[in-house]
Amino acid sequence: MHCLHTKMKIQLRMIPIVTAVALTFAGACATRPASEPSGSSPASQEIVVSFDAATATGLMDWTQSNNSHVPESWKHAHVYELTREWAKWNQQPDPYSEIDRTLAEVRKSKSALKEIVKSRTLMDTVLSKRSAFSQSIIPTLVKYLPSGTSFKATVLFAAFIPPYSFSWGDGSIIINITDSYWRGSADKVLNLLAHEIYHLGFIAHQPGSSATDAHRSGEIIDFIVWRTQNEGMATYVASRCAPPGLLVEDYDLLDDPAQVRAKFDLLRSLIIEASDVDESRIPLVRTKAFQVGDMQRAFFVVGAHMARRIEQINGLDSLVNTVISGPRAFFATYAATKPPAGLSVNLP
Ligand SMILES: [Zn+2]
Repeated sequence: MHCLHTKMKIQLRMIPIVTAVALTFAGACATRPASEPSGSSPASQEIVVSFDAATATGLMDWTQSNNSHVPESWKHAHVYELTREWAKWNQQPDPYSEIDRTLAEVRKSKSALKEIVKSRTLMDTVLSKRSAFSQSIIPTLVKYLPSGTSFKATVLFAAFIPPYSFSWGDGSIIINITDSYWRGSADKVLNLLAHEIYHLGFIAHQPGSSATDAHRSGEIIDFIVWRTQNEGMATYVASRCAPPGLLVEDYDLLDDPAQVRAKFDLLRSLIIEASDVDESRIPLVRTKAFQVGDMQRAFFVVGAHMARRIEQINGLDSLVNTVISGPRAFFATYAATKPPAGLSVNLP
């Protein structure tokens, strides 16, 4: 299959101060689905990325101010309302009281205040690099998405929330800039941004569903395989655009064969537990899916290994086609590459 040129437009916006940068990569090469006839006109591809740092800036600046009255306005900011939704979706406790506690405590600690100044600098560095980021990273993301995938992404900075990052179906990407996970590295933030932006392109084709909506064995299996493909593809694609030497825990795991095998063991045991499970035990499987898949990284490492192997053995088009055909096709395509026993997964 030949590669057609795709008209790709990338815009960068900073809100509320709008500084839009429109970049056109007329020669960027993206993969078309095999089912599309060749010779059709090139698809137009548009990815618009906006940045909103207002809420995080307000909170971080307050910690350094003379005003000791703990602010309340953050509770109604979109980024915090989404964090609350994220917690619900992941069966985590409501994060608001914990954030309230952090805000009340943080001004009492000199070392915490110092860290917040560093986080503020980190955010400014990320914002100053956003134009170079789009030029170097977005063409790679586009390469791993079906031709014509268009979407808008809004990067919302937050402070003091439980996850270091997550993306939401409305196109929001939340970056918790005060999280120690970044270790002060703007490149690490930007690489994670690549991961999260990829998710938005992926879910445009495979929206998936929440584990909380799974009430039967088949539904929880569907959730597990979707999460494996979604997190795996995002992890693999972001690893392909990471600058040399960037330290990312998931990529270290991916490069360690013993770790990859261990994550396959975890995923297999989760799938076995979810197979033919009684309805009454579904909540237990949901909890295990979060522990094994997210906390112990099985979704990320297994999925990324599968994506890498599919591309290495079958080529890029085969991998991109699984974004159109979905999670079960992703597993079937991987199985067809005949992986060794320790690195295979059978679905019920
Ligand atoms: Zn992810």
